[in-house]
Amino acid sequence: MTITAVPSVSPNLNPPAAGPLAGRNAVVTGSTSGIGLGIARALAAAGASVTLNGFGETAEIERMRAELAEQTGVAVRWSGADMCRPEEIAAMIAEAEAALGPVDILVNNAGIQHVAPVESFPAERWDTLIAVTLSAPFHAIRAVFGGMKARGWGRIINTGSAHALVASPFKVAYVAAKHGIMGLTKVVALEGAEFGVTCNTICPGYVWTPMVEKQIEDQCKVHNKSRDEVMRDVLLAPQPTRRFVTIEEVGALAVFLAGDAARSITGTALSVDGGWVAR
Ligand code: NAD
Repeated sequence: MTITAVPSVSPNLNPPAAGPLAGRNAVVTGSTSGIGLGIARALAAAGASVTLNGFGETAEIERMRAELAEQTGVAVRWSGADMCRPEEIAAMIAEAEAALGPVDILVNNAGIQHVAPVESFPAERWDTLIAVTLSAPFHAIRAVFGGMKARGWGRIINTGSAHALVASPFKVAYVAAKHGIMGLTKVVALEGAEFGVTCNTICPGYVWTPMVEKQIEDQCKVHNKSRDEVMRDVLLAPQPTRRFVTIEEVGALAVFLAGDAARSITGTALSVDGGWVAR
């Protein structure tokens, strides 16, 4: 069941939003933190109304929601739907449409990570990771796709990863899920192509977010390295630029993909990885 413990829509005291995405309605999964929050902020700044989704402390989420509505003048709501649960995903989309109108832009961003060798990778972590990172995008797309096709306009943007295109050791579920997202992207793109509906996957390299912070301890264990060594030799080693990608860089690409200028871009991976997959 979707949790709506906070006011679901901003009072919207500001003048109507302007911007390239004014009048569009977006849902961004996993947007109470990190990249998803950055994408939600960028879409709202471009004029789209936004349904946030994700976990966290209720008062903090409400503070972020109200701040975003205040800064941008668009309607901002929050759904606490658990992306492991198909029925909660369907309810999140139905509630977003009831509150703010048809969903024009769906960003499938919620994701989790687990780092362990294949032989000791916990089976239940595999199941949960695949549910959140691969199955949830399918369920969310399934809920919006018919409407987008019928209206002749839609944007589906998935947050993949460099790990949607290449692998690293100790991330078997994550790499499998992210590669799976590319298959999902291509099929949805083909089925939407004649209906004005695009589907693409943004593939960031390492972006400094709570997800990366949380995996450092496990990376230290599996690689037998210190924190500094993990940062240098594991996280930034594959990124030729030797710096973390920023959340704002990913948000800007999402806004571009959501706009009319990107209508011919579909079924593809867009790397924002400092050159990682060029090797
Ligand atoms: P994060 O941990 O900062 O944010 C994850 C978000 O997903 C949070 O809002 C969290 O509440 C939400 N979430 C987790 N499980 C959920 C569930 N069951 N239901 C609903 N929401 C849930 O992580 P991030 O680094 O911002 O990652 C976001 C996306 O970007 C993920 O798909 C991740 O794989 C991808 N990504 C991250 C990086 C990176 O370096 N940080 C690189 C490439 C791709």
